[in-house]
Amino acid sequence: MPQPKKKMTNTRSGNRRSQIRLSEIALMTCSKCKSAVQPHVVCKICGYYDGKQVIDMDKKEKKVLTETHDHDHDHDHKHEAK
Ligand SMILES: [Zn+2]
Repeated sequence: MPQPKKKMTNTRSGNRRSQIRLSEIALMTCSKCKSAVQPHVVCKICGYYDGKQVIDMDKKEKKVLTETHDHDHDHDHKHEAK
């Protein structure tokens, strides 16, 4: 098996990796609601892409409403215990 001739020091790998960084996420404005959206990604606020309704936001809102409760469930239900 071929092996590297010299041990790569922590400094050398660190110096190389210093050039690796996340590029800034490109953003464009939504043609419908003017919010910042990623290109080639459906707008999460209004569900529009390329001037067309892709996601039915009405159905999504209803789903959210059914998932939410009047109270959080961190506590026990006292009325169930006798
Ligand atoms: Zn939008």
